[in-house]
Amino acid sequence: MKNEGIEGMERFLSPGSGRGLRALRHFTEGELVFACPAYSYVLTVNERGAHCEHCFSRREDLFKCGKCKQAYYCNVDCQRGDWPMHKLECVAMNAYGENWCPSETVRLVARIIVKQRVTTERTPSERLLLLREFESHLDKMDSEKDEMNQTDIAALHHFYSRHIGDLPDKQALTELFAQVTV
Ligand SMILES: [Zn+2]
Ligand SMILES: [Zn+2]
Repeated sequence: MKNEGIEGMERFLSPGSGRGLRALRHFTEGELVFACPAYSYVLTVNERGAHCEHCFSRREDLFKCGKCKQAYYCNVDCQRGDWPMHKLECVAMNAYGENWCPSETVRLVARIIVKQRVTTERTPSERLLLLREFESHLDKMDSEKDEMNQTDIAALHHFYSRHIGDLPDKQALTELFAQVTV
């Protein structure tokens, strides 16, 4: 199977081992083979205040979001850039106070759902693989993992349903969480 637009590289399927990437030409030392931006990302709560929520720069002179006073940014550009994602949490963090505690996985999945809704074409992050092509390995999920998955889904509904209308159904969410955590 050819992948989209990565010159000199090819995606292949290795039965029993999964997918791989192989070179179709010689690459010289130091040559960049492949790079892509992250599809979605989230700064952990522990790193808040030390890094910009949008570009992850570590600096001393970050300023905080005036509304929630919990998210920090380099400048107005970074704040604006992050707003489509931060708005999912900004008001809720204030409303819930100390009870606002979705896991990083839940926060990331919330962002992915919103991103999927606003993107209609293959993103630069998906040159190799579309997000929906990610393996979920649902067939290999044990009961412990399944329980964690269901807890995450409940938390997503609890913390985000007011900000993300019409969340995907349980089956779709089970698959998405499995794709993200595998
Ligand atoms: Zn920044
Ligand atoms: Zn905020």
